[in-house]
Amino acid sequence: MRLTILGCYAATPRTLTNPTAQVLEINNHIILIDCGEGTQVELRRRKVKFSRINYIFISHLHGDHFFGLPGLISTMRLLGREKELHVYGPKGIKEVITLLLKLGDSWTNYPLLFHELISKEPELVFEDKKISVTTIPLNHRIYTNGFLFKEKEGKRKLNIDAAQNYGIDKAYYQNIKNGKDITLDNGETIRNKELTFDPPKPKSYAFCSDTVYDTNLSEQLKGVDVLYHESTFLESESELATKTKHSTALQAAKTAKAANVKTLVLGHYSTRYKSIELFKEEATTIFSNVLLADDGRAFDF
Ligand SMILES: [Zn+2]
Repeated sequence: MRLTILGCYAATPRTLTNPTAQVLEINNHIILIDCGEGTQVELRRRKVKFSRINYIFISHLHGDHFFGLPGLISTMRLLGREKELHVYGPKGIKEVITLLLKLGDSWTNYPLLFHELISKEPELVFEDKKISVTTIPLNHRIYTNGFLFKEKEGKRKLNIDAAQNYGIDKAYYQNIKNGKDITLDNGETIRNKELTFDPPKPKSYAFCSDTVYDTNLSEQLKGVDVLYHESTFLESESELATKTKHSTALQAAKTAKAANVKTLVLGHYSTRYKSIELFKEEATTIFSNVLLADDGRAFDF
């Protein structure tokens, strides 16, 4: 699982900082999460092929989380895309994007499919053989969801040495990979577990964009491997955080601790602070494994 941060600063694009967008590579899917202004440029800079993005998840309709989307959709058209593009986001996203395309007489020549979200409860919104995606309802100034991405358990891997030791013919290898036990010529049954290795443990990633500190949030995040949690402010601005329905670095750490996640990634920083290291310093006072998102930074989990 690889997370590439395209942008992770609050409010407006600036010379050296971008608003929220990130790419999650998970079980061979390449997923775009939020799409602030500048996302296209950052995708090119990070050498992410536009054609490999088939799913885009938008947390909410504040500009710093989706103003890059119409441009990206339009560029995909110019690049001759033919494949479907699926966009998940709050109700209204279809209207705003299609109005732009309509007025510009620039309908996509590829199927553009919107999946509008309205539920205030966690909802399974995407699932295939490799992953599932569930919404994480957040508490912000407008309707907002985070997203929980979970890998599915892979197939068991053939232990060739073990199979050879039992003298099992190669013709049965596919059955072993499919989880079957094998009966030898002498009638002895060899359990599949003895002929295979455990698949890698499935990983999970929770993206929590803009939200006020909410003690209920940790329940849905229990045991996730990686939690990205916004930390717009430090505790010195905690009143402002509550007023604008954002979180502080300490509050993000409290949620990470209560949910017992393995790794906390902080982002969505207000640009009022001198250094983003201050966010890490504050969070690590109560939660040790803290990483700082920054534009262009990539993490392998
Ligand atoms: Zn917002």
